[in-house]
Amino acid sequence: MSMSVNPQEETFVFPSGLSIEELAALLPDQPAYRARQAYAWFSRGIADFASMTNLPRPVRDTLSARFHGKVRSSSVAREMEDPDGSLKLQIRLRDGSAVECVLLEDIEGRKTACLSSQVGCPMGCAFCKTGSLGFLRNLGADEIMEQFHFLRERRGAISNVVFMGMGEPMLNLPAVRKAIALLSDPEGIGISLRKITISTSGVVPGILDLAEKGPYVRLAVSLTTADPALRSELMPVNRKWPLDTLKQALLSYQQRTNDRITLEAVIIGNVNASDADALALASWIAPLKVQVNLIAWNPVEGMEYQTPSPAQMRHFRELLESRGIVVVQRMSRGRGVMGACGQLGDTLQTSLP
Ligand code: SAH
Ligand code: SF4
Repeated sequence: MSMSVNPQEETFVFPSGLSIEELAALLPDQPAYRARQAYAWFSRGIADFASMTNLPRPVRDTLSARFHGKVRSSSVAREMEDPDGSLKLQIRLRDGSAVECVLLEDIEGRKTACLSSQVGCPMGCAFCKTGSLGFLRNLGADEIMEQFHFLRERRGAISNVVFMGMGEPMLNLPAVRKAIALLSDPEGIGISLRKITISTSGVVPGILDLAEKGPYVRLAVSLTTADPALRSELMPVNRKWPLDTLKQALLSYQQRTNDRITLEAVIIGNVNASDADALALASWIAPLKVQVNLIAWNPVEGMEYQTPSPAQMRHFRELLESRGIVVVQRMSRGRGVMGACGQLGDTLQTSLP
């Protein structure tokens, strides 16, 4: 395996992004179980090489030297806790740029890590804070995994992972796939694929690639509206992969997994909250087996959109339900720390170009 040894280089992968095989390649003179032992430590989230107490000193030293003494490529720059219990971390990456990740805890105490896959996002959705920042670069699998470790270190066992942080995961599939392999590895972190969700704005080639090759995680699609002209206006992705193409891709994925897809719909008071919007959404959805997550638009500074009232949300929801659609209304958890949907990046303006 040819890996660079300069940790500043993009191709350099830090330990939390490495598989057992890749660790074994770094320890060519050691018996295979040494790589397994090291992997077990890294997947438990240790932060320094000295903690790997069952490894002989020379092995620890080899690893430490390989990674220039650093288990992690990134660090936590800021922690923000919401009164509702959600925790948002601002992560400083090795190149000085930053992303955010969030830990959400529901009433039953189930913990969900919401991870970022890119620094910023190139998709340009009109209502989204992250989109307004523009795009800097993809994250590596190690940087994605480190977000998970930082959150778990603070809040304990995590049962679910959603790629709903900053960025479009389908445009960074190699790293997202690698992170999913590590998160779901029964020899490591061991989160079932059914508890991992990729959320996409509708990047069709990514959905088809996933349908063909897996991993068969849960899929969420930010649909927002079934009105083609409005969707193109709000979400430029629709100009490239319009609603029909998207629906075909969703049917392929559904055929493969036989699982319910989640359609996320950000409801904006003065834009897509009317009865006609709800009914158009219902008829678009008809051939699919889905659950709709309704999200009231969270305010983003400088945007003219309106947050719908609770009554508007309820009415919209009831219209969908009257057409037999399963609807979940997502709580605006994390709003106090701007960790709610679409607000990631609010504390980062200075770190992105
Ligand atoms: N880029 C992927 C993953 C991010 S998920 C995607 O778009 O699916 C972030 C979710 O928050 C998406 O469903 C998005 O539509 C939603 N969102 C974006 N801005 C929002 C805002 N201001 N208020 C509420 N939800 C928002
Ligand atoms: Fe990117 Fe998703 Fe925001 Fe759209 S909603 S700009 S795809 S993060």
